[in-house]
Amino acid sequence: MLSSYNELKFRAHKKRLLDELKRKGITDSAVLKAVSSINRHEFVDSALASRAYEDTALPIDMGQTISQPYTVAFQTQLLEVEKGSKILEIGTGSGYQCAVLLELGASVYTIERHRFLYNRAKDLLQKLGYRAEFKCGDGTEGWSAYAPYDGIVVTAGAPVVPAALMEQLSVGGRLVIPVGNDERQAMHRITCIGDNEFEEEVFDDFKFVPLIGRDGW
Ligand code: SAM
Repeated sequence: MLSSYNELKFRAHKKRLLDELKRKGITDSAVLKAVSSINRHEFVDSALASRAYEDTALPIDMGQTISQPYTVAFQTQLLEVEKGSKILEIGTGSGYQCAVLLELGASVYTIERHRFLYNRAKDLLQKLGYRAEFKCGDGTEGWSAYAPYDGIVVTAGAPVVPAALMEQLSVGGRLVIPVGNDERQAMHRITCIGDNEFEEEVFDDFKFVPLIGRDGW
């Protein structure tokens, strides 16, 4: 009884969140469908479950956050994921962004630097029936063993664009990365248009936790 009441409540909250994402400018119907297929409350601590469908970042241990749903949808929309796209995610965190990419039919390679978060996200995604490749390490170095990628998404704020990530894009591939200082980061989309040739677009400002590592903070 209680769980079906909660399910109804979560469904109503999720509907409200989807309306909010559309109002804020998310137009990609596949991205909206992916968000609607995933129970964000399963990716946060049970004490925060009632807030899981607010359009806000929430804490997830180790001083990190599950990104705001609008941010996840915005970055995913910029990636232009197609079924079968090979995507590298830097910053697995809770595993939520990884689930969104998998719902879109991508093959996902995801790197997290905190072993605790790496283990927890891996276990959770496997329990939910998702399949991805997980690595614990410094994502600023990319993951050359599986390169090139059709898309790379960085879910932490970088001081500069790590060269290794640009090198690991396929021609036509897109790197979506927030770049800036420790207060604000502008969302950049860098598209590889040829051998060592790139096009760069800059979008709105966001606020992320820092990207730590060799080419991070
Ligand atoms: N995509 C995550 C999600 O859906 O929950 C967002 C997580 S949080 C905003 C960013 C994550 O990036 C944190 O878990 C942090 O530990 C991780 N991170 C920071 N620097 C990293 C690096 N160099 N390599 C891998 N992960 C990193």
